[in-house]
Amino acid sequence: MKRESLRYPPGVMRKQVFAIVAFAGLIAAPVFAQQSSKMTPEETEVWQPVPPIVTPGATDADPPSDAIVLFDGKDESQWVSAQDHTPAAWVVHDGILTVNKKAGNIETRRTFEDYQLHVEFQIPADITGSGQARGNSGVFLASTGPGDDGYELQVLDSYNNTTYVNGQAASIYKQSPPLVNPARKPGEWQSYDVIWTAPRFNPDGSLKSPAYVTAFFNGVLVQNHFQLQGQTLYIGKPFYKAYDRAPIKLQAHGDASQPISFRNIWVRELK
Ligand code: MG
Repeated sequence: MKRESLRYPPGVMRKQVFAIVAFAGLIAAPVFAQQSSKMTPEETEVWQPVPPIVTPGATDADPPSDAIVLFDGKDESQWVSAQDHTPAAWVVHDGILTVNKKAGNIETRRTFEDYQLHVEFQIPADITGSGQARGNSGVFLASTGPGDDGYELQVLDSYNNTTYVNGQAASIYKQSPPLVNPARKPGEWQSYDVIWTAPRFNPDGSLKSPAYVTAFFNGVLVQNHFQLQGQTLYIGKPFYKAYDRAPIKLQAHGDASQPISFRNIWVRELK
């Protein structure tokens, strides 16, 4: 047989092989296409549940209709002392909320799990100090108790101020520097928009799933689904400690620079 086949000119062999491959393709193509060709367009349409209607704010910075407003410029009734849960004693004036260092950290009356947060802050135009002692505050994405460090998104003047990069503005303190530095000058209002996925814990207190954070600083992505290693510690390696729901906390840092101010704080719980 081998000898016989060798008598055929090479061109004939190529044509035969081509014909076989083409024939196989004709049979195989409908088999592969069979599954999708039998489906209708309607079979891949999803109609329920319908996403709830949310009315957006007048601007993207204004709270949408399903937001919980934590500070609207009028009062600090949504906030308490993080130390003893007495009414917050920061200074409300001219529609803004200014840190009172003597009163210490404040936190929300409400507790949260996963959420979207909007907060605006202003470093004073005449800010003094340098490094970590220049407009230091913080948004603690979960305040897990007076003895805990919690989970801090750093607030600092980082317009022209050198410090360790995992401690500059919009860092997850001592864990993740911001991807870029879109800080504005002292005196200008700035914003954080945050998506927080809280950590989950097993009944025995062990970690079930870690915390994640995505954050925008002045509209610019600075943390992209960063997986936290635990609480944001000033000293030492981060670790997780079990908690359930937690307030959001604002930091009254003890440095000697002028206190910073906040405004327009709102949150949307994510189910
Ligand atoms: Mg801080």
